[in-house]
Amino acid sequence: MIATALTELLRIRVPVVQGGMQWVGKPSLVAAVSNAGGLGILTALTQPTPEQLRVAVRETRAATDKPFGVNITLLPTINPPDYQGYARAAVEEGVRIFETAGNNPSKLIEYLKSNGCIVIHKCTTIRHAKSAERMGVDVLSIDGFECAGHPGEEDIGGLVLLARAAQELRIPYVASGGIADGRGLAAALALGAAGVNMGTRFMCTVESPIHPNIKDTIVKATEQDTIHIFRTLKNTARVFKNSVSMEVVALERRAGGAQFSELRDLVSGARGKLVYENGDPDYGIWSAGVVLGLIKDIPTCEELVKRIEKDAEDTIAEMSKRVRPMAKL
Ligand code: NAD
Repeated sequence: MIATALTELLRIRVPVVQGGMQWVGKPSLVAAVSNAGGLGILTALTQPTPEQLRVAVRETRAATDKPFGVNITLLPTINPPDYQGYARAAVEEGVRIFETAGNNPSKLIEYLKSNGCIVIHKCTTIRHAKSAERMGVDVLSIDGFECAGHPGEEDIGGLVLLARAAQELRIPYVASGGIADGRGLAAALALGAAGVNMGTRFMCTVESPIHPNIKDTIVKATEQDTIHIFRTLKNTARVFKNSVSMEVVALERRAGGAQFSELRDLVSGARGKLVYENGDPDYGIWSAGVVLGLIKDIPTCEELVKRIEKDAEDTIAEMSKRVRPMAKL
């Protein structure tokens, strides 16, 4: 058993959080992660309306009696979502754990805190982490450059970012980006984290609601199969390297660059969603982290969480044998 400030605060068994994932953070996966002892997180914007988020919360609650949360991400979108409506619907449905991410979260955090919620805020810089700490969030999710989706624009890898978090932060933090196994959990704990957040690893589980071909694609992929789109628009996103993402990058790199309007049809989430439905990894843009290289199978969430827990414990025990004080001469 690895008990930390995170397991105590969230009342979960294992310090493993399933991060918000657009089109993937649905009730079946969320309930499976929570039933396995981690924290499952529903992705609010995956539901077309706040009313449908209510239905998803109820569906999740019917499938697990364990704690779970809701992710609300504030980033540029093609159609502006009713963020406040999603937050209100989840709060009214009794959700008390939220993962927030993205730009200008202060109003959302204020609303959630005034309703007695636990807020885990995801950020990619120590500056933003300290600002969220001042806003009263309970936990920070420190997202290193290895992560899927939006790593920010400062390109600091998890190793340094987490060590900086240990120097600067007063509240518990979880390591996000680059974690997919027990060795990663042990390393995160060594860097002062109270747990880990995993996205791509949970995409590739039996209960993940995406097409089996995409799970097989993840298993076959290596750590070299991601690419950054939107670098030139300062909305960088790490996604699977395929014909569509390479076309986007080529358009961004040509002389004069590209306006978002020229990329819109290639990158739209509505098109990316179809990747998960039709199983064609080349159909659109889909998020994936560098941990692609670490993922070799498609376990159930229960098997995965148990394995991570055991491997982390073994790694910690093995380290204390392998790394010992030098004998006196
Ligand atoms: P979408 O179809 O609205 O946009 C597709 C992509 O284009 C997204 O990455 C978005 O950030 C980007 N984009 C949109 N307008 C832009 C602009 N004017 N300038 C630069 N970039 C722009 O996105 P979607 O798939 O419906 O997802 C909804 C939101 O959730 C997006 O902001 C997306 O980035 C974000 N997201 C959330 C998660 C999560 O874990 N919750 C994961 C991935 C993405």
